[in-house]
Amino acid sequence: MTVVRTRFAPSPTGYLHIGGVRTALFSWLFARHHAGTFILRVEDTDRERSTPEAVQVILDGMQWLDLDCDEGPFYQSRRMDRYGVVLKQMLDLRKAYHCYCSKEELDAMRAEAMARGGKPRYNGRCRDRLDPPPKGVQPVVRFRNPQDGEVVIDDLIQGRVVYRNAELDDLIIARSDGSPTYNFTVVVDDYDMAITHVIRGDDHLNNTPRQINIFQALGKEAPRYGHIPLILGPDGKKLSKRHGTVSVLQYRDDGFLPEALLNYLVRLGWSHGDQEIFTRDEMIALFDVADVNKSAAALNPDKILWLNQHYLKTADDSRLGGLLAARLKAAGVDPGNGPDPALVAAVQKERTRTLVDMTGQSLCFYREIHAYDPTVAEKQLNVAIQPALISLLALLAGLPDWTDAALHQALETVAAETGLKLGKLAQPVRVAVTGGTVSPSIDKTLRLLGREQSMARLERAVEYIARRAGP
Ligand code: GLU
Repeated sequence: MTVVRTRFAPSPTGYLHIGGVRTALFSWLFARHHAGTFILRVEDTDRERSTPEAVQVILDGMQWLDLDCDEGPFYQSRRMDRYGVVLKQMLDLRKAYHCYCSKEELDAMRAEAMARGGKPRYNGRCRDRLDPPPKGVQPVVRFRNPQDGEVVIDDLIQGRVVYRNAELDDLIIARSDGSPTYNFTVVVDDYDMAITHVIRGDDHLNNTPRQINIFQALGKEAPRYGHIPLILGPDGKKLSKRHGTVSVLQYRDDGFLPEALLNYLVRLGWSHGDQEIFTRDEMIALFDVADVNKSAAALNPDKILWLNQHYLKTADDSRLGGLLAARLKAAGVDPGNGPDPALVAAVQKERTRTLVDMTGQSLCFYREIHAYDPTVAEKQLNVAIQPALISLLALLAGLPDWTDAALHQALETVAAETGLKLGKLAQPVRVAVTGGTVSPSIDKTLRLLGREQSMARLERAVEYIARRAGP
């Protein structure tokens, strides 16, 4: 049995986005399912378009999602000497050759091919060039692609795909400045890293016959390939900037849990019966690349929110507390200045869909209320409610237990006493203690705030009503 070695090989020319991460996930799952090795390789040979920020997003994104690699990260930019060595071997073995054709000559060849009704292509002019090369021209290096026969790809997802060698022209594998090109570096790396399975986007399918041929020229069998279909936007169109495609880290910043994003991604193009929720271990156990759909999958923003809510609800409170505390700090609020964030998270996770919502709705526990929203205050904090707030204050002062049940009972008592429905009492109390109209159930809100804060805020509301009522 082959020992599986697979890799994720992003190019840091743009921020790693959701499509790239799904490729990473599928490769990682494939490796883990087969107890194989997962390698991370950063394909940063395009020095002009690669940026350190984009590399960092790859590293941080993989770490955030815990798509751990067994080897790497390797950087192509640090392997230039190796590419040079293989290039020389290929030239020595006549598997590659120098090409001196000028741009004008190449344009003319393409035009001629098109005039004959073919694809624009290189005509092999320098393949077996006998005449001396033009002086002062730095040649490119072309791969001597076989001219006959076929390349058969037994794709793990797409099935059998056949290319005729006659359709493939002699690919440039090194530019005139000596720098190797993409299809060549990928092969050298997959070769050196002993990759057995390549799982990547189907935008690379056209490169595969060329890469297989280069492998053969190097005397080595190519890996197996699985090309996964693209991800489409929610409108079914090719994913693009228009859809607000963003770096994977944006999902973290928007308050998604990594397990929610992974569960969302695994279901984009793969399924196991009608199961929607997969733990990491279940994904690893059940993922089979042969089950990946051949057709493209479309994003569904509602679903990721639904999954996130599920994972928030089931997440450990102390973990959520840590995440909430970090976000409170980032919002300029001291998490030590209020209830234990784990207790707040335990309540909020039942009613918020993202950590961003959770944070926004928890600020009131940690910072003073500077002003009430005037329209809300007008409606909720008025003289009609004042006696109820005063009796609630009296009850709260002597409440033996500061628990949900005891607080609920106190509110019931005041409601009965003042002839108010519980809801009619709860909302003004909520405005008094949170400054707004949205918070967990009022007993939980008061419990979290604690006796001192709850009473101080209720007293301030009573004073506010008195002040507004005038002498
Ligand atoms: N570096 C390529 C990309 O980011 C992927 C190459 C591969 O997986 O073979 O699209």
